[in-house]
Amino acid sequence: SKHQSVALVIGVTGIVGNSLAEILPLSDTPGGPWKVYGVARRPRPAWNDDNPINYIRCDISDPEDVQAKLSTFTDITHVFYVTWANRRTEAENCEVNGKMFKNVLDVVIPNCPSLKHICLQTGRKHYLGQRESHGKVEIPDSPYTEDLPRLNYINFYYTLEDILFEAVEKNEGLTWSVHRPGKIFGFSPYSMMNLMGTLCVYAAICKHEGAVLRFPGCKAAWEGYSDCSDADLIAEQQIWAAVDPNAKNEAFNVSNGDVFKWKHFWKVLAEQFGVESGEYEEGQKLALHEMMKDKGPVWDEIVRENGLTPTKLEDVGNWWFGDVILGTECTLDTMNKSKEHGFLGFRNSKNTFISWIDKVKAYKIVP
Ligand code: NDP
Repeated sequence: SKHQSVALVIGVTGIVGNSLAEILPLSDTPGGPWKVYGVARRPRPAWNDDNPINYIRCDISDPEDVQAKLSTFTDITHVFYVTWANRRTEAENCEVNGKMFKNVLDVVIPNCPSLKHICLQTGRKHYLGQRESHGKVEIPDSPYTEDLPRLNYINFYYTLEDILFEAVEKNEGLTWSVHRPGKIFGFSPYSMMNLMGTLCVYAAICKHEGAVLRFPGCKAAWEGYSDCSDADLIAEQQIWAAVDPNAKNEAFNVSNGDVFKWKHFWKVLAEQFGVESGEYEEGQKLALHEMMKDKGPVWDEIVRENGLTPTKLEDVGNWWFGDVILGTECTLDTMNKSKEHGFLGFRNSKNTFISWIDKVKAYKIVP
């Protein structure tokens, strides 16, 4: 075949999946030329349609669907696992996410003799714990390093890692890498946690209503240092780990390598949408999920009036996620390990903040 590597991206319309779908097929991508299979449940959306990939609709929580849709692909060399399911309790998250991952590995590993490497994306909650554990276990002091011990509380990220370690142990020659981003700046109207998209939709609603872009967050987020992980940078790190021998069988933090303050980015956001910027308000009890809960019809009107790509407010406005990010102090990680192993990628967060906003507008998700 004319392809040197064959990728299977699970979650190809997600916030990092969409970046992988764009970057993997490029002619200068390491390990290439790549052939790409991309999996998600919904029909292929227009904003993902330009990428030269093989799009497969499959629900990986259903083992029969995985068997039916994925067992015929025998040439896969690399798996990029960039998806998840969000359940009520962490025990359910461990069970459901573990099954999804296992369903994929159980079909791909035996059917693909050339399989070399599996990239698993988890996140900074590896160190912070998932929501349910907050207040119940002590969190290590930041900046976080990859070698910190696991928290003494269940976490679906640990479940996924253990499934990965077991699968690789049983299959000689197969290698793994784990990637731990913080909050991701990227593009995907199908993501369950897309902060950029959520902020753009919030700003567009404020603009439509002639309202001030109030800051619905805490003082620590407004004034303190925050960081973020660019979706393209995460994809680049995963591709690096997939092909570089120095990156095998290791976990890596992935963040842009700089810091910012929301009090500065908030003004940028307001400027990009032509609205008046709010400030941190002492004693306010604002929450996006409260402020935006009845805005469905307003959003439909904005979409109609501006001829936007049809979306539902509940898909593009991940209000709970915005509230978590703006309502808590950001804890930082370090990129030393990643750099020491040879990945020197970085992003200028302010520049990419603006370019992701441009992209959300260019694909007509917001006016
Ligand atoms: P997204 O929510 O952005 O994307 C999920 C993708 O998976 C979509 O393409 C979705 O499409 C697809 N998908 C969902 N369920 C299934 C299923 N049952 N079968 C097949 N495809 C499915 O994912 P993220 O990149 O955000 O999440 C990956 C990991 O990164 C998670 O562990 C998350 O916790 C972590 N993370 C995310 C951060 C963020 O800011 N987003 C921050 C830090 C960590 P469809 O719905 O059509 O199936």
